[in-house]
Amino acid sequence: MTEAWGPDDDEPRPHSGPVRVRVPAKINLHLGVGPLRPDGYHELNTVYHAISLFDEITARHGDTLTLTMEGEGTGELALDETNLIIRAARALAAQARVPAYARLHLRKSIPLAGGLAGGSADAAATLIACDLLWGLGMSRDDLAEVGAQLGSDVPFLLHGGTALGTGHGETVSPILARPTIWHWVVAVADGGLSTPAVYRELDALRDGSWPPPALGSADQLMAALRQRDPAVLAAALGNDLQAAALALRPQLADVLKAGAEAGSLAGLVSGSGPTCVFLAADAAHAQRIADGLTEAGVCRAAVTARGPQPGARVI
Ligand code: ATP
Repeated sequence: MTEAWGPDDDEPRPHSGPVRVRVPAKINLHLGVGPLRPDGYHELNTVYHAISLFDEITARHGDTLTLTMEGEGTGELALDETNLIIRAARALAAQARVPAYARLHLRKSIPLAGGLAGGSADAAATLIACDLLWGLGMSRDDLAEVGAQLGSDVPFLLHGGTALGTGHGETVSPILARPTIWHWVVAVADGGLSTPAVYRELDALRDGSWPPPALGSADQLMAALRQRDPAVLAAALGNDLQAAALALRPQLADVLKAGAEAGSLAGLVSGSGPTCVFLAADAAHAQRIADGLTEAGVCRAAVTARGPQPGARVI
């Protein structure tokens, strides 16, 4: 049979725009932090999990590169070359040798500096949006290589789901498990915590400890995921950064206590904090925990979320 089109028609082409991309936040079900490496990074062994809290990037054609923003915390976010959205667009354009021309707009719901990787999420969404707008046709793995230079969590946010992260978090291997929906409550704090400051605090807490800190394995967490039982998963959750986040923000102990009193199966600080996340048995249970946290008045907002979610996707 002859085809009515030639091979050139399979070539990626610029999109007329606009391109809208939705990207989830991440939490870490397990965050094992090894000793500080000579290159300034810590060796990580982490289980990433994408949850239903989303930012959205819209990309349109333009004569130059511009960014506008609305939503959660964007008043505190610089619009200049330090913004991860601008950096992602420029890095992709440089890699593909095309001009970095686009009008980008961010609708933000992921709290800023919250330990939910909102900045990396925006970078991942920008890579997907500009790749399509400019007709580059790059693979997700190629985009992940560009993204890893922007932030350790970018490769995961391109892939989404639940995945093992190694190296300094940039090497991502999907965890193949039968799909299970997990129910979470996300307790959003007032103000953020600086990720480098939390790692510095961890180093200070560990200073002189003997034996030296070992990199905890994620095996127990991965076995718990396979059992698909929230009570089993609850017992396996863990975060080596939690003590450091609590040292810098002692009020987080009240949030964790309020979540336990509201009946959560487990609670932990998300990544470097200050967001705390709580595991629930089902959607109704999650709503009761969120209501309990709101009533306790220990956080700025308590919202329910589900995971896993796909990574950055065109909508
Ligand atoms: P992580 O968990 O990846 O360490 P986080 O969730 O604690 O990060 P982010 O919201 O990713 O924190 O922001 C960290 C810092 O990155 C912000 O304080 C801000 O200065 C910078 N940043 C640059 N661009 C962005 C962006 N588009 N969105 C959020 N933060 C950005």
